[in-house]
Amino acid sequence: MFDTLSTTAAKGPMATMEDMGHEQLVYCHDEASGLKAMIGIHSTVLGPALGGTRMWNYKSEDDAVRDVLRLSQGMTYKAAVAGLNLGGGKAVIIGNSRTDKSEALFKAYGRFVNSLSGKYITAEDVGTSKTDMAWIASETPHVSGLPESMGGSGDPSPVTAFGVYMGMKAGAQTVFGTNDLAGRRVLVQGVGNVGGYLVGHLISEGAQVLISDVYDPAIEALMKKYQGLIVVNPLQVIDAEMDIYAPCALGGTLNNESIPHLRCSLVAGGANNQLAEDGDMQRLMDRSIAYAPDFVINAGGLINVYAEIKGFDRAWAMEQTNNIYHQTLAIFEQASNDKISTNKAAIQLAQKRLSSVQS
Ligand code: NAD
Repeated sequence: MFDTLSTTAAKGPMATMEDMGHEQLVYCHDEASGLKAMIGIHSTVLGPALGGTRMWNYKSEDDAVRDVLRLSQGMTYKAAVAGLNLGGGKAVIIGNSRTDKSEALFKAYGRFVNSLSGKYITAEDVGTSKTDMAWIASETPHVSGLPESMGGSGDPSPVTAFGVYMGMKAGAQTVFGTNDLAGRRVLVQGVGNVGGYLVGHLISEGAQVLISDVYDPAIEALMKKYQGLIVVNPLQVIDAEMDIYAPCALGGTLNNESIPHLRCSLVAGGANNQLAEDGDMQRLMDRSIAYAPDFVINAGGLINVYAEIKGFDRAWAMEQTNNIYHQTLAIFEQASNDKISTNKAAIQLAQKRLSSVQS
């Protein structure tokens, strides 16, 4: 039994900005509101660095820095593979999203975002909501994922979940020889926004769905909505028998402690940075567990907010997100042809696009 999130992407040795290729890291502090935040700009090669703001109770500032560096790098790859004219950025606010939020805090944060003059555009992420985005918008135009009532595209999570579902089907096609998920045992870890909508798609297709969350109201809400869900204790997720593991909580759940115990053939989920460190991809391959790269299959939300910036067109956003199926299939094929990991194949694809713009 493991606490699967005890080793998150926010641990491990601190990589430098230079190692990871970041352009800028901004520390934000506002004493009056209690704001402590960091904005990581990994790349603006393809366009403004767009990425959500996460609010999380980090144990230390170092943990927050590690997380924002990794998350913003992932956004560069995500936008590049999805073919969007966006760079990669991300922000973290240190604090408890259930108790520490205030209008003053998000306004102070909005002023920091504004000081970057559009080089960084923010949006929702874990721990932040449309209401928070509306507060930020009172201080800066560089915010997306706004409520529909403010002319925004609303919550990106349903689109993210649809893309994850498409990526999972592509993974199933590669691993099981069919993309039909009926009867497959799929465990969704974290049934918040993305996980909750993903469960809906899986139930509609007739999958056998296992759910797990540390927040009981999230489980209760889904149990009321759907029949036949199997609830798994959060400490027993990694030991559960399943065909497909869908991490939809936080990053780092694929690590040296969890991988030896995983009982699945495919990992395909919405969480960012599922691999705690580079060696974890090899650990998965050694166990013949296929991996649909997170930043490829969870790009739906980014596509949706990009559509908002361009002039919102939901049909376009859904069509692009639907295409995640083919992108994921192509990455599995490339990895197999080149005898490399799927993660490496996806990063190579992103780097190819970045260098085509730079040359
Ligand atoms: P959310 O906060 O709505 O949901 C996360 C859920 O995970 C919560 O219900 C939380 O209680 C649960 N959780 C936390 N620790 C857990 C544990 N140890 N075991 C089981 N459950 C646990 O967040 P979200 O918007 O659904 O995002 C989920 C993941 O997807 C994050 O990694 C996020 O970065 C990523 N993501 C989200 C979007 C989006 O559109 N929202 C887009 C791309 C990627």
